[in-house]
Amino acid sequence: MRRDPLTGLLNHGQLMSSASRICAEKPEDSVHTIVMIDIDHFKIVNDTFGHPVGDKVLVGLAELLSDNLRSTDFIGRMGGEEFAIVMVGAGVEHSKLVIDRLRDLYSSVQFDARSDDDLHSGKWFKSTFSAGIAPLQGRVADCIKAADEALYQAKHQGRNMVVIAS
Ligand code: GH3
Ligand code: MG
Ligand code: MG
Repeated sequence: MRRDPLTGLLNHGQLMSSASRICAEKPEDSVHTIVMIDIDHFKIVNDTFGHPVGDKVLVGLAELLSDNLRSTDFIGRMGGEEFAIVMVGAGVEHSKLVIDRLRDLYSSVQFDARSDDDLHSGKWFKSTFSAGIAPLQGRVADCIKAADEALYQAKHQGRNMVVIAS
């Protein structure tokens, strides 16, 4: 299996098998979470500045996650502008603190709007993401579904937000 070619993160399949492995591991009292992240209004970035600039945003978020999470966490690109993290040894409240800090950091990053055609030379723009968090226990597919529902709530409540699954 290969990593996601654009970002170097785990791909969908690798993230899923890492989550399953962590889930099956003992001791049973250890807590983990799964976090689903989706960039807000990413289509507008592509439509306004072009696909190559959109790609740079994806790589930028991947680097921010890789640079700021624990080496024991698993970070994957699930497809498009959607990422997932398995936070090992973290409960939902702790995970929310961490992801909120990264959300804040990401929202302050200035992206260069220039592409090869130089159409947007000298312009900068910002981006945000929304996230949903669920405990990682039992069936991984159920955990991802719960985190996805929390992510949907974050989108619905205005984006640039982190929501814990109810
Ligand atoms: P929302 O806030 O609701 O998530 O809106 P959104 O615009 O982020 O979501 P939508 O699903 O409408 O658009 C996602 C866009 O992501 C559309 C697609 O072209 C773009 N996309 C998917 N994969 C890639 C990629 O690898 N590179 C680039 N540049 N764009 C991508
Ligand atoms: Mg999406
Ligand atoms: Mg999106």
